[in-house]
Amino acid sequence: KTMLDVQKIRKDFPILNRKVNGKPLIYLDNAATSQTPKQVIDVIVDYYSNYNANIHRGVHALSQEATDAYEQARIKIQKHFNAKHSYEIIYTSGTTHGINLVASGFSSLLKKDDEIIVSALEHHSNIVPWQMLCERTGATLKVIPMNTNGELILSEYDTLLNTNTKLVFVNHISNALGTINPIETIIEKAHAVGAAVLVDGAQSCPHLKPDMQALDVDFYVCSAHKICGPTGVGMLYGKEEWLKKLPPYQGGGEMISEVSFEKTSYADLPHKFEAGTPNVCGGIAFGAALDYMNAIGFEAIAAYENELLEYATAQMLQIEDLKIYGPEASGAKNKTSVISFNVGNIHPYDIGTILDKMGIAVRTGHHCAQPIMDFYKIPGTVRASFMFYNTKEEIDTFIAGLKKAVLMLS
Ligand code: PMP
Repeated sequence: KTMLDVQKIRKDFPILNRKVNGKPLIYLDNAATSQTPKQVIDVIVDYYSNYNANIHRGVHALSQEATDAYEQARIKIQKHFNAKHSYEIIYTSGTTHGINLVASGFSSLLKKDDEIIVSALEHHSNIVPWQMLCERTGATLKVIPMNTNGELILSEYDTLLNTNTKLVFVNHISNALGTINPIETIIEKAHAVGAAVLVDGAQSCPHLKPDMQALDVDFYVCSAHKICGPTGVGMLYGKEEWLKKLPPYQGGGEMISEVSFEKTSYADLPHKFEAGTPNVCGGIAFGAALDYMNAIGFEAIAAYENELLEYATAQMLQIEDLKIYGPEASGAKNKTSVISFNVGNIHPYDIGTILDKMGIAVRTGHHCAQPIMDFYKIPGTVRASFMFYNTKEEIDTFIAGLKKAVLMLS
């Protein structure tokens, strides 16, 4: 049974009080972006009200306060993800930026005949940068296939791996289906042939607390906006040895040690990858968001979200012709609180539009994962995704709304 005081938690989120189309908002699009608690909003207001300044270069008080808070937040992120060093945490603008930074860096490390492996469950942001990398380097892209349960077929992964494999990219959790991928095994097998692994943690960070050292992962990326933080900021974790090997992504201020027109030398980690004025406030707020989530506790969060998942799944399966894509929900081991579904031949967009009229926010479409939709031969799905501030009463309203929508559209 739940250990969370959900009604108390809901008071932290001002947006949950608003109405949409005259109805209380029921926000079930958490996999796209999460909502922000007042503890984080307060940090943002405090930053712009009291110590907004450029960092790492001012002698004045505001600049030093902002620099301290920004670097303290980096240490919070390091501790949260259990990275060995704080300089292994690179601030980015989000998951997409982190992936592109690594993909761009590998341009100089790959050659023709090298191979890259991605999974069939990827978000477009974890497909397109690697295709571009292959175009630049002549390397080949291979794909770990999936089965109809929305799980990767690991025996096929074994046959793809060989000594030409240089990189493996896989998301920790699929945003389209909620599948939790066996990244421990994927990492171990990649390392056995000498390949590096980048894990896209955009969907895992809100639900789990991944341990960089225990996973022994080479790169891990995520976005703060999925974890109760603001948009426009995220992090790339990279093992020191890899971050030293990769060339800088962008040139500019902050990332240099010395510059002349003859030769420029780069700054040490992490600054080598942090050109220009960063999202200072965003970084500080990212740290505050992790504080907020950790105060609630990830174990309690995962257990409660799994309760919501099982509660909703059981009711939805009662609806005639409703099909859920992805793994069966079974004890939070293989799936997070994402339900991707269709009802008969009704277009997902039509269901989403009617639900919106009732104040219920879901996502519809291909979820930036067209290859998954092609696999199932569907144009898209309706996706309801839950976070720890959702309630069973909201799910009841959503199910009633869904039934009404299906009746109208049949
Ligand atoms: N990968 C996955 C699995 C995602 O869910 C998302 C966000 N939908 C991204 C990457 C991209 O994240 P962002 O847009 O924050 O860069």
